[in-house]
Amino acid sequence: MAKEKEVEIYGAGMSGLIAAINLAREGYEVIVHDMEEGYGGSAIYNPSTHVTPLDPVKTSEYIGIDITPVFKPLESCPSYFRKTKVMLPVGGVYAVERGSRPKSLDSLLMDECGKYKNISFVWKSPLKKESLSNLPKNTIIACGLNPKAYEILGIPYLKWYGWISRGEIDMSTYAWLWWDECMTEYGYFSSVNKYYFNLLFSNKEVKKPCLEKYKNFMVRNEGIEHEEWKYVSGAVPLASPENPRLFRENAILCGTISGAMDPMLWFGISGALVTGKVAAIAVSDRDKALAEFRRFTRRFRENYYLKNKIWYRFIRPNVGMLERVTRIVGTERVQKIGSLLQEGKLPMRSAIPGFSYLGCN
Ligand SMILES: Cc1cc2nc3c(=O)[nH]c(=O)nc-3n(C[C@H](O)[C@H](O)[C@H](O)COP(=O)(O)OP(=O)(O)OC[C@H]3O[C@@H](n4cnc5c(N)ncnc54)[C@H](O)[C@@H]3O)c2cc1C
Repeated sequence: MAKEKEVEIYGAGMSGLIAAINLAREGYEVIVHDMEEGYGGSAIYNPSTHVTPLDPVKTSEYIGIDITPVFKPLESCPSYFRKTKVMLPVGGVYAVERGSRPKSLDSLLMDECGKYKNISFVWKSPLKKESLSNLPKNTIIACGLNPKAYEILGIPYLKWYGWISRGEIDMSTYAWLWWDECMTEYGYFSSVNKYYFNLLFSNKEVKKPCLEKYKNFMVRNEGIEHEEWKYVSGAVPLASPENPRLFRENAILCGTISGAMDPMLWFGISGALVTGKVAAIAVSDRDKALAEFRRFTRRFRENYYLKNKIWYRFIRPNVGMLERVTRIVGTERVQKIGSLLQEGKLPMRSAIPGFSYLGCN
């Protein structure tokens, strides 16, 4: 039986730590469990570098933690439809490092946790199905993209597969996107803090010839080769329009497993940041937290249908068409559209939960 002011959290990733810090400040005893041996998120993917549209100042204000030092403005980001290259506008887009290296977001959050004696950690402590019915009320579950956690909780998920490569690199804060018919999502590279992460991913198995095609593209267009690639998979909460949920059984969900993710491009960082705070609010005020959660995830459903009924069916399978349209419209005009979006001059209805020019806040 948990003490009155005690909260257990499963998942010491970004949303779990944000919830922990906020609860510790309110005087709760917080016990954070994670299946890994230490902090830094899942060892399958991290260290890694991620890119996201974000307003780091407004996000910091909302979550009550200054995360601005670890979000670095992206310097440039080409997007390739086969041979056609479009430079995407990068104002308002940031790169961030995950994992346990010193300049990562996780390290910043762990330093903040270190200020509170009422936060303790239990490593190698996975959430188990048999303990689900005995979890103390208000246990927070922040297990990210681990398929097992979705299964334990009965949350519908989409399995994704991908090739990843990561390591040190002497590059600035940079990214690219690559679109091809050999996978349903995209290939993307990002670098920050002289570390890179490259992911070629799909909601179906990504076959070796697809990876070879991507490698050829990289050498030809970006002059980059990586020595090692690893095949990984994971879960995303994008299997049902009803996915976003703050409460499950006795527990409070936050981060990606709560469905705080954008169904179009699968941006998850921003949603994990804000819902970590929402989960902390839910411990003492469920109604207020639910209103906040619904506000951040209110565009999930329409973007879910946009992705599944239009994008996957008619647009994404035909990268040649995207390339032709880009050429007809002209790369400069495509770039102009991107800039108008960024300046808020187009009625764009993105589903990225949180604070950014594409944000649902
Ligand atoms: C390869 C990859 C690339 C990505 N790129 C981007 C990007 O560029 N931009 C973007 O916006 N988003 C990106 N995302 C999504 C984004 O990383 C996630 O949405 C976000 O990190 C999720 O945060 P979280 O707090 O929910 O979970 P995480 O930060 O992933 O933390 C989950 C924690 O739970 C622990 N855990 C898992 N299962 C259990 C269990 N059963 N018991 C106990 N502990 C458990 C894990 O060890 C981990 O520490 C990417 C995701 C991946 C996997």
